[in-house]
Amino acid sequence: MAHPTDDILSAMRSPSMEDRAAIQRAYDFAQRAHGDEKRKSGEPYIVHPHAIALSLATLGMGRTTIIAGILHDTTEDTETTLEEVDKEFGSEIAFLVDGLTKYSKLKYRGLERHVESLRRLFVATASDIRIIIIKLADRLHNMETLQYVEPIEKRERIARDTMEVYVHIAERLGIGNIKTQLEDLAFKILNPKEFTEASRFVEQKQSELETQLDEDIKDLKKFLAESGLKKFRTEYRFKSIYSFHKKLERKQGEIDQVYDLVALRLIVPNVDACYRALGVIHSFWRPIPGRVKDYIAFQKPNGYRSLHTTVITRRGVTMEVQIRTEEMHQEAQFGVASHFNYKTDNTNAAPVDWFLKLLPTLLKRPDTSGNPESPRWLKDLTDVQKDHVDFETFEEILKQDFFAERMFVFTPKGDVIDLPVDATPVDFAYAIHSDIGNTMNGAKINGKLVSLDTPLSNGSVVEIMTKKNGAPNKKWLELAKTASAKAHIRSALKKD
Ligand code: MN
Repeated sequence: MAHPTDDILSAMRSPSMEDRAAIQRAYDFAQRAHGDEKRKSGEPYIVHPHAIALSLATLGMGRTTIIAGILHDTTEDTETTLEEVDKEFGSEIAFLVDGLTKYSKLKYRGLERHVESLRRLFVATASDIRIIIIKLADRLHNMETLQYVEPIEKRERIARDTMEVYVHIAERLGIGNIKTQLEDLAFKILNPKEFTEASRFVEQKQSELETQLDEDIKDLKKFLAESGLKKFRTEYRFKSIYSFHKKLERKQGEIDQVYDLVALRLIVPNVDACYRALGVIHSFWRPIPGRVKDYIAFQKPNGYRSLHTTVITRRGVTMEVQIRTEEMHQEAQFGVASHFNYKTDNTNAAPVDWFLKLLPTLLKRPDTSGNPESPRWLKDLTDVQKDHVDFETFEEILKQDFFAERMFVFTPKGDVIDLPVDATPVDFAYAIHSDIGNTMNGAKINGKLVSLDTPLSNGSVVEIMTKKNGAPNKKWLELAKTASAKAHIRSALKKD
């Protein structure tokens, strides 16, 4: 028999009969609890938990998380108590619902309080990362229905909060799928004029290029098959409105310089086939120099892996090609959520302190041998937590390091260091080790001697020269952009 949860169940990876029964029961429970309650749009309230459950199922989350999503507002807005949820659905689901309810008690109290909210958000994340994933799905649906919120100031405030906080969290957790949607929805409210311009351009280009693209991709498929690559699938995507806008800003409005307006994704069976496919593509279409990026050998700080190249097709379309395996493709869209075992829906995170508890979840990579690379920002935060935890320092670090845009640069040995975009050799040195920072007396970028205030750029190879018994200079405090470098410099200066 048809049930309103049918679409949720069919979005799940492989729901069992028990999953089906439990999800239907939770839905009926939530529907009864919300009763005649309405959303601001005038729709019955249940459309909201329904949308969240659907997002969670799409992300690949299992029964427990989906049910917590369905119930997340019941103890908040209705007569239902947490005890009832506990009795009906068990303590694990009650724990998640409680976490989400605590979270929604956070009220916006001006910008100063904002960072504190962030801090609590991390605490919520750490107590169980599923809470944050549900929270992201919740925010997504609230953004999708934001036009019903009055007054406009409140709408803008919610959009800003989304852009400044939720987008970054989604990015950090690698959930590209939700990140992109949140970004575009927030951008539309915050900069309606720019949004309209950018979306008009992307749409126009899309209709211009679509036929050529289809033909081009048909040719490529034939060529790949002839070259012995028989198992693969492709999909292509136009750049999201917001990322197009950002790129255009960086290119000072030169539209011709935006090479990755279209991205072709080529999904192949294994890593070996990724590199082979790259070779085949370069022999078929002309690659643009300097645009090949190997994020398989050097994965991005949030775990993203793929080979990228930009080519000019035979019909003259410039496009980015992203080559990856199915597993990498899942990770690129769903990030940390793709590491959940959907059967048990559990993270198995060790409960140490809140950072350490978050770490294994972020780092868990099934089927990957060798050492998982811990994201740099997380290491930095963990270090700082160990040293000094006064709130001011923590606040600074969150603002400057965590929420600034990131780039990555290399040591001469090829290790990747993740830094905010305006970082200098001083930040780089301290990011390697505080002893290297403290004894630094010069730096080379790509083999050339530079002054210590030279901003680093993505992909540079940076070498730090040190001097025995060297000590930091007070001026470095101005050159350092990361709060963690500053903290190290300050503490070294104090010792002298
Ligand atoms: Mn909600």
